[in-house]
Amino acid sequence: MKQDNCIFCKIIAGEIPSSTIYEDEKFKVILDVGPATKGHALIIPKEHYADFYELPENVAVEVIKLAKKMMVRMTEKLGSDGFNIVQNNGEAAGQTVRHFHMHLIPRYKDDGEILKYIAGEPSQEDLEQIKKIIIE
Ligand code: 5GP
Ligand code: ZN
Repeated sequence: MKQDNCIFCKIIAGEIPSSTIYEDEKFKVILDVGPATKGHALIIPKEHYADFYELPENVAVEVIKLAKKMMVRMTEKLGSDGFNIVQNNGEAAGQTVRHFHMHLIPRYKDDGEILKYIAGEPSQEDLEQIKKIIIE
């Protein structure tokens, strides 16, 4: 269902132009207007789901299959040296558009550290405590 005021629903509906690199009955893959690297693209389902939590499992499977297909094609065509697949859920995780999308980011040798985070240093006890919380 199309959601009012959703920029990606408007792109899907053709109300906002986009550079589309793949399309089928369920998905559109477009170039990001604020690319992290050359070829940065977004997989967008045509149905509106806010995030991965809302995405039905069968659609999630199709997203992954499409990501694999696009990654292989983009790597070949762009001659990239590596590839990041990024997917943000919720404001705290950096999601700015609340219509599920998956980032396909071709990486090039020496293109800079665009996705760097500072690694924590948990003790084995800390890890065990977190493990317990998750599995219990
Ligand atoms: P998020 O931060 O939600 O994971 O990513 C949203 C992405 O959508 C950003 O990388 C941003 O550059 C991209 N974006 C936002 N508005 C538009 C638009 O109108 N067209 C395209 N092609 N990309 C957009
Ligand atoms: Zn939407």
